[in-house]
Amino acid sequence: MALTRSRLDAVAAATAWRERTSLNGEKRTRLEELFGADVFSERVMRERLPKDVFQRLGRTIKNGEKLDPQLADIVASAMKDWAIERGATHYTHWFQPLTGLTAEKHDSFLHPDGTGSALTQFSGSALVQGEPDASSFPSGGLRATFEARGYTAWDPTSPVFLNRSGESVTLCVPTAFVSWTGEALDNKTPLLRSMQALSEHAMRIVSVFGNESRAARVNTTVGPEQEYFLVDRNLYFARPDLLLCDRTLFGAKPPKGQQLEDHYFGSIPGRVLAFMAEVERELYRLGVPVKTRHNEVAPAQFEIAPIFENANVACDHQMLLMETLKRVAPRYGLHCILHEKPFAGINGSGKHNNWSMATDTGVNLLDPKAETHTNMQFLVFVAAVMRAVDLHGDLLRAAIASASNDHRLGANEAPPAIMSIFMGDMLADILEQIETGEPKRTIKGGKLDLGAHTFPELLRDAGDRNRTSPFAFTGNKFEFRAVGSSQSSAWPNTVLNTIVADSLDAIATALEKALGKAPTPAKLESAVRDLLRKLVKQHKRVIFNGDGYSKAWHEEAERRGLPHLRDSVEALPVIASKKSVELFGRYDVLSKAEVESRYNIAVEKYIKQMTIEAEVMISMARTLVLPAALQHQKRLADAVAATEAAGVRVSTQRRELEAFVALCDRLTIAAAELEKASDSHEEDPARHARLIRDNVRPAMATLRAAVDDLERVVSDDLWTLPTYRDLLYIR
Ligand code: ADP
Ligand code: MG
Repeated sequence: MALTRSRLDAVAAATAWRERTSLNGEKRTRLEELFGADVFSERVMRERLPKDVFQRLGRTIKNGEKLDPQLADIVASAMKDWAIERGATHYTHWFQPLTGLTAEKHDSFLHPDGTGSALTQFSGSALVQGEPDASSFPSGGLRATFEARGYTAWDPTSPVFLNRSGESVTLCVPTAFVSWTGEALDNKTPLLRSMQALSEHAMRIVSVFGNESRAARVNTTVGPEQEYFLVDRNLYFARPDLLLCDRTLFGAKPPKGQQLEDHYFGSIPGRVLAFMAEVERELYRLGVPVKTRHNEVAPAQFEIAPIFENANVACDHQMLLMETLKRVAPRYGLHCILHEKPFAGINGSGKHNNWSMATDTGVNLLDPKAETHTNMQFLVFVAAVMRAVDLHGDLLRAAIASASNDHRLGANEAPPAIMSIFMGDMLADILEQIETGEPKRTIKGGKLDLGAHTFPELLRDAGDRNRTSPFAFTGNKFEFRAVGSSQSSAWPNTVLNTIVADSLDAIATALEKALGKAPTPAKLESAVRDLLRKLVKQHKRVIFNGDGYSKAWHEEAERRGLPHLRDSVEALPVIASKKSVELFGRYDVLSKAEVESRYNIAVEKYIKQMTIEAEVMISMARTLVLPAALQHQKRLADAVAATEAAGVRVSTQRRELEAFVALCDRLTIAAAELEKASDSHEEDPARHARLIRDNVRPAMATLRAAVDDLERVVSDDLWTLPTYRDLLYIR
């Protein structure tokens, strides 16, 4: 596609695309045949592996048992045959370095034998371990560049899949990525460790209650809802800010934004629907169980949501989902924006992270619908989450901090940066009654036994969904709504699992102690009652069921002593705090060096992103905006001069010209100020980040205001940048 520069050309091309694309020409495929077609799934393994190998591998996958290296050769060979039958020529270890993206390095299956022919080869050791050059991936100080060694290690718990791109088909093996000293250089390794920690301590509680005697493990389950924007690709090419920063750095508000609220769940435009259908087909092939699609709140904003899976697989699939959105969009003349806040003045995008805990026998531990004694178990798990968010809300906040999410969190339409939990009125009421002693109130006839009998009612009654809470109980799971749309799901889930593991550990220890060597149901009941009462007393301040956007809540949260970390500069240091290092260390999720590396990378990324944005702004202001403005100024001046030469007085237009000249001055001065601000450096990254927040961000806002004011008055044919009107309404 030709690179389109002028806005009017771009608009013309965009409109042509829109007319051309609809669902009509689309091929229909039988979905059930498609689903998982490109996955080396359990079904494929059962068919292709010797029975005993299949069973032994199954134990590794299901119970996290250590992998027997002897199996690897057999499994690799079966994988290779399967992949080659499907057109694959190469294989790769697919991993998630700390860039927040995925990485791959392809090797051919072909092994030239030196006589002019070649064998196909994929050995067990090539499956199990790889050694990409690690030197160009961020390590945050974990590894000096000269110690470039990094290893990838097969994660058999996440299915191997085929990546198709045009004619090329590649076998992708999900792997962990570690340094030669064994430190995690990726997002997957700590996630797996955090799942292990949570499982261990959740199982202690499950054992105390004794309801799930067949359970061997507790899995965390995750279903992330992904919000995104679609803009026409021609328009995208004409916006250097979108091209380089994935967000608009300028743009006057159009007369129609989202005030009519007519987009949410509205009918999906033809071209977009065709795009969505193809994204879904590709994801089905990869075994990603996508389920829901709809328009979101802002114009040109949409959402796609899968059915939940085990957290590790869900996070891998989330990466594939983001990549698929990006990859398919150009086929429809579209560009997909995953940035948290691509447009000022309208809603940003999040990734609502639905999260729960389930036994490997399939029991959702956050599902209140069950017998009384199981409900006690449910309340214990809810209380554990409450304690975790109260004690570590600051770390949870830090896990979602980024330059891009800073624009969204705490803005009018997004969850506030204060971490609190929405429990719903009924559940909050039950917790309150637990706190005040014997539950006395009888709700809906049944006697209140720890609130248990009311739960089925509770679900129906608490139907009001609180969209203003960063962390909400939604029936049988928690929804962490503050997660950013562009970030990897792995890190926030790692933090969530770790802080909950810590609470489960503390609770399990207390219950085990209270029960002693001879537990009885009565002892258990009174121990749980006492413990819950204590937990509610200590941690109820984190519960808030009201309007999270309101100023009153911000004041109230401050009175309650809840941390309010307004932006990344305030939030990120929590990652490397003594408390966090100790926590991650206690559950073997991250060593001190690993924690510090993540903090360093996040701060570096903040600095780099902001610096790039400032530079793009200055360059756009000088090379695109100012030339257009000066032409406009010349037109005005020429008109004034010509009119006066004709002997007509032009006082109003002269004043307009003067005002316009002043506006151009504002632009020039603001660009110079921003340049000055972004030129100052600090050796220490944390201080540099602070400097950027305090000086560069305000200077960016001033420059933006000048440019947006110009956009409102400069002649439309001179304005080369596609406007918000073009970007948001040509679909
Ligand atoms: P919403 O009304 O919040 O937009 P959706 O139906 O769009 O709800 O999304 C709900 C998400 O929560 C889905 O991705 C779903 O798979 C996920 N989910 C449901 N139950 C669980 C669970 N037990 N654990 C994790 N995620 C879950
Ligand atoms: Mg949702």
